[in-house]
Amino acid sequence: MPQTKPPGAFAAIVNHRCPRCRTGQMYLYGPYDLKGRFLAMHKNCPHCGQEFEIEPGFFWGAMYISYAFTTGWFLVGLVIYFTYWPPVWTFIGAYLAFVLLTLPINNRYARTLLLHVFSPIKFSREAWLKGQAA
Ligand SMILES: [Zn+2]
Repeated sequence: MPQTKPPGAFAAIVNHRCPRCRTGQMYLYGPYDLKGRFLAMHKNCPHCGQEFEIEPGFFWGAMYISYAFTTGWFLVGLVIYFTYWPPVWTFIGAYLAFVLLTLPINNRYARTLLLHVFSPIKFSREAWLKGQAA
């Protein structure tokens, strides 16, 4: 039975779905793909055909969002540091380990947010309905 309601924008962002149809997967592999292909994306949405890299170098902008994420986590880390006062090298080591371990997730969400929030691609009910008719 076809869905009667399109997925919400938040669910589409959390699940890395196309910003236009909110259905097609953006990434080819999982975030912890053993061959390091965590940023490999479909060129076009497998559901509606929307091109993801809308202009050359578009995803360079995700670097700024990724930087904001990393800074935000650092501020959270500082709150934890000033609450529990661990040895400074423990804090630095734990923060670096955290940043390295969450790097694939951080970068993927940065790209997904860039496409959903900072690109001219808007949700289209027609694009969502494409492929639902069968
Ligand atoms: Zn799509």
